[in-house]
Amino acid sequence: MSCVIWWVRRDLRLHDNPALHAAVQTGAPVVPVYIHAPAEEGVWAPGGAARWWQYHSLDALACGLVEAGSPLVIRAGESLAELRKLVAETGATAVYWNRLYEPARVAHDREIKQKLREQGVATASFNGALLCEPWAVRTSQGNPYRVFTPFWRQLAARLDEQAPLPAPGRLSGPARAPRSTPLTGLGLLPAVNWAGGLAASWSPGEAGALARLEQFRDSALTGYESHRDDPARDGVSGLSPWLHHGEISPRQVLAAVRERPGAQAFTRQLGWREFAHHVLFNFPDCPEKPLNPDFEHFPWRRDYQELLACWQQGRTGFPIVDAGMRQLWHTGWMHNRVRMIVASLLVKNIRAPWQDGASWFWDTLVDADLANNSLGWQWAGGCGADAAPYFRIFNPVRQGERFDPDGDYVRHWVPELEAVPQRYLHQPWRMPDVMQADCGVRPGRDYPFPVIDLARSREEALEAFRKLRGR
Ligand SMILES: Cc1cc2nc3c(=O)[nH]c(=O)nc-3n(C[C@H](O)[C@H](O)[C@H](O)COP(=O)(O)OP(=O)(O)OC[C@H]3O[C@@H](n4cnc5c(N)ncnc54)[C@H](O)[C@@H]3O)c2cc1C
Repeated sequence: MSCVIWWVRRDLRLHDNPALHAAVQTGAPVVPVYIHAPAEEGVWAPGGAARWWQYHSLDALACGLVEAGSPLVIRAGESLAELRKLVAETGATAVYWNRLYEPARVAHDREIKQKLREQGVATASFNGALLCEPWAVRTSQGNPYRVFTPFWRQLAARLDEQAPLPAPGRLSGPARAPRSTPLTGLGLLPAVNWAGGLAASWSPGEAGALARLEQFRDSALTGYESHRDDPARDGVSGLSPWLHHGEISPRQVLAAVRERPGAQAFTRQLGWREFAHHVLFNFPDCPEKPLNPDFEHFPWRRDYQELLACWQQGRTGFPIVDAGMRQLWHTGWMHNRVRMIVASLLVKNIRAPWQDGASWFWDTLVDADLANNSLGWQWAGGCGADAAPYFRIFNPVRQGERFDPDGDYVRHWVPELEAVPQRYLHQPWRMPDVMQADCGVRPGRDYPFPVIDLARSREEALEAFRKLRGR
């Protein structure tokens, strides 16, 4: 009997999975296949933290599929070549998958579709990752949006209320299971185990995603709008890595929160995710090039490597920045408000190219996502879609005082400052000597002095910006 290959990518779930659902609907046996192909041309191979997540998520999916009746087949190699081999091995007559929207993936998928069809294999792709296709929303002139609010207004008005698809019941597998590579052979886990903090913070996999969604909906959604900027609090969903890896769909999230108090503000954030994909799809150079081409000539600091290293390691001397960078290193995630603050310091005060910050995030975030990360960094750099104006430079001391007024976030991630009185917590270098002696914290000895002068670097950044505008 012929069968259908479900080509698993970043849709590591059984619920609300349009490709899987369609494959099951054919009535033919379904062969779930994951192909590890990190070196395909132009594709951004996942960074270290995302690979760790991928490993555990694939492991969870594999267990779910064994229970469902058709085990996951894992292969390593070039996608088209492996799919062709699998078609030959299983006698599959169709390959179904959910679409990805990164530029190189779009190009590869188009080619794969064409080549398989030439070979007489039916193909079908589905939207399992977004609330709306990135080409579907257009300005009245027919152009893609570069500003969020009108984009969201249009998208929000057309969100359908379609219920998420159920997980399939029992799957029938192929008569003869094709060869499968062990998951451990893909090299996804780090050789030196630095991932203890990740394991303590997260439960990759569909069950973890559903549990987190339920917990967020029942505990924090109502207060989301008021608390979403408080990094010390569990006030946001923390769903970003599961959404990125496709262990939950935005439609499932939307369906779970809809009609609940707090849903509007939260849904708008899902709208930013849609906007980021819209921008990436329509401006495929945005992971590397500023959307505003003037910024290609921005005079970045030449000798910034040492400052970049301090930033990466969480020893800039600005407590809220260091707290964020250490949270990132330890857990693979950082609160959105703090992402904005650390990015501003790097791009505006240190004047390091935003691409360097994006690439560090790419390697260290469990939710590293080409669309969201590029949008976030171009936003911080003042050069992207709907970006913060370049002249708006966050002051990390003021931001710390405003968004971590009790200092809980800083004290948690920068414990050497625990005893510093609140008044100086966000600027410990200003602590009078006597107070330093009292609390036992001496800046320069127990915690770094600021690596950069905020007032001077701000002026230099503004001057660089003025020059750019004058060109
Ligand atoms: C410099 C910078 C880099 C970033 N890099 C990434 C990244 O690589 N991956 C990533 O998923 N997000 C990124 N973001 C966006 C945002 O910080 C995270 O999505 C958010 O912190 C995730 O936490 P959460 O799931 O609790 O979000 P919630 O506040 O609970 O929001 C729910 C969901 O909405 C989406 N979302 C929320 N805010 C944004 C946003 N500003 N842009 C796009 N989508 C958003 C996410 O999918 C998120 O899971 C970046 C932001 C900045 C400023």
